Amino acid sequence: MISSVAIGLVVAGTLILLWALVPVRRLIATLPPGPVRARWRVMAGMILLFLGGYLAYLFSFFDRHSTLLDLIVPVVFFGGSWFVLLSTTLSLQTALDVMKVSALERDASTDSLTGIFNRRYLDRRLTDEIAAARRYELPLALMMLDLDHFKRVNDSFGHQAGDKVLVEVAREVFRQLRETDVFARYGGEEFMIVAPHTVLPDVITLAERIRRNIEQHVFRVPDQSGEISRIHLTISIGLATLGPGSDDKQSLIRFADASLMSAKAAGRNRVMHASLARTAPDADRTTT
Ligand code: GH3
Ligand code: MG
Ligand code: MG
Repeated sequence: MISSVAIGLVVAGTLILLWALVPVRRLIATLPPGPVRARWRVMAGMILLFLGGYLAYLFSFFDRHSTLLDLIVPVVFFGGSWFVLLSTTLSLQTALDVMKVSALERDASTDSLTGIFNRRYLDRRLTDEIAAARRYELPLALMMLDLDHFKRVNDSFGHQAGDKVLVEVAREVFRQLRETDVFARYGGEEFMIVAPHTVLPDVITLAERIRRNIEQHVFRVPDQSGEISRIHLTISIGLATLGPGSDDKQSLIRFADASLMSAKAAGRNRVMHASLARTAPDADRTTT
C-alpha cells in the first residue's frame, strides 16, 4: 500500500516535471538571444536531470517493503515538481506580460504612418531633456521642420502619394541624425527634433545638412493612375536653443515655431534661428 502511494507520487511528480518543460520551451522560444535565454536552457537541462532522478528513484520501490518513513522523499519529489511547474509557468506569464506592456508602450509612443516617435512621446522627452540640460548646465537645441508647399503634392498626386512622401521624408531625415537626437512627427507634415548637448552652430550645421539632403533627394511619387513621377521637395526649418527667453518647454517650442514662420516668410527652403543677429557659418540659406 505504502509502495503504491509512493510510486503514485513519484509518477505524478515525473509527469508534472514533464509538463514544466512546456513553459520552459516557450520561454526559450520567446526570449531574445542572451544570458537570460541561456540560463533557461540550463534550467531545461536541470529539469531533465531531475526527471532522470525521479525515474531512478521510482524503480527502487519495486519489490520492496516500505514503511511510512519511505513516503517522505516521494512527497518532497511531488511537492518539488509542483514548485518547478509553478515557477516556470509564472516566469513565462511574467515575460509575456512584460513584452505586452513594452509593445503597448512602443505603440503609444510611435507615429503609425512614419514609424518615428509621435508628439506625445516628444512632449515627454522634451520635458525630461530640458530638465537634464538645466540641471547639468548643458546646451539643448530644438528643430521644427515643415514641408514646403506640401498641399500641392496631395492636390497633384493624391493623399496616398502624400503619405508615401511623408514616410520618405522621415526616413531621409532620420538618416542624418545622431543616436541621441529625438525625432518625432509633431503634426500633419511637421516634424520636430530635440538635439541634446547641442550648441547653436552645431544645430545649424545639422539642420543645413537635413535641408540640403531633402532638397537633393528625388521622390518617386505615384499618381492616381499609378504612373511614377520624379519630384523634388524642400523643407523649412525653425531652430530654438535653450537659453534666456526660451528656457522652458513652451517658450522653446514657441521660439522654434516663430523661427519656422520666419523661414517660410523669407521664401522657404531655409534654416532660421529667429533671434540671434549673427551669420551662420555654413550656408547662404541659414539666417539667424
Ligand atoms: P507651406 O509651405 O506654407 O507649409 O505650405 P503647405 O502646403 O505645406 O502647408 P499647409 O499647412 O497649407 O498644408 C499642409 C498640408 O499637409 C495640408 C494637408 O492636407 C497635408 N497633410 C497633413 N497631414 C497629412 C497626412 O498625414 N498625409 C497627407 N498626405 N497629407 C497631410
Ligand atoms: Mg507645409
Ligand atoms: Mg504645416
